[in-house]
Amino acid sequence: MCYEYIAYFEEAFKTIEKNQTKVDDMVSDAFVQIFFHELGHCLIDVWELPATGREEDAVDQLAMILMLDGSPAGQKSAVNASLLWDIASKDDDKENMLFWDEHSFSKTRFYDMICLVYGSNPEKNSFMVSPTRLPRERAERCSEEYNRANRSWMKLLMPYILD
Ligand SMILES: [Zn+2]
Repeated sequence: MCYEYIAYFEEAFKTIEKNQTKVDDMVSDAFVQIFFHELGHCLIDVWELPATGREEDAVDQLAMILMLDGSPAGQKSAVNASLLWDIASKDDDKENMLFWDEHSFSKTRFYDMICLVYGSNPEKNSFMVSPTRLPRERAERCSEEYNRANRSWMKLLMPYILD
């Protein structure tokens, strides 16, 4: 984890939030998401966990599942972490998209992450569904996406969890 990343988070969040205390919280939330994302890579590598899709997407899912602990604070952090990718997408060079990159495009990562937030509690999060936020066409599948991601990761991690 490099310090430059933290500085980038702050710069990014300052484009949508003026209150420094809130910016600091958003930076922490994004850091936690990236930390869990990197932890996911580590677990896949060390424990040789299966990942048949893009590993970058799989570990984003793990990070979101860990953050979405059912608490309002967890959800708020998960939303903030998602917003980073919405902001980052504004810097994308639309004429020169890196189709070969192992990461999904920033805007896709944003929608994938916010879909998991919504899907973790569709009733409570119905306000998120709108053409400018989470389009209904995607929202309809988010509950299943969340359940499948949660179920899959828990199944993979269960043998390593001591009770
Ligand atoms: Zn990664």
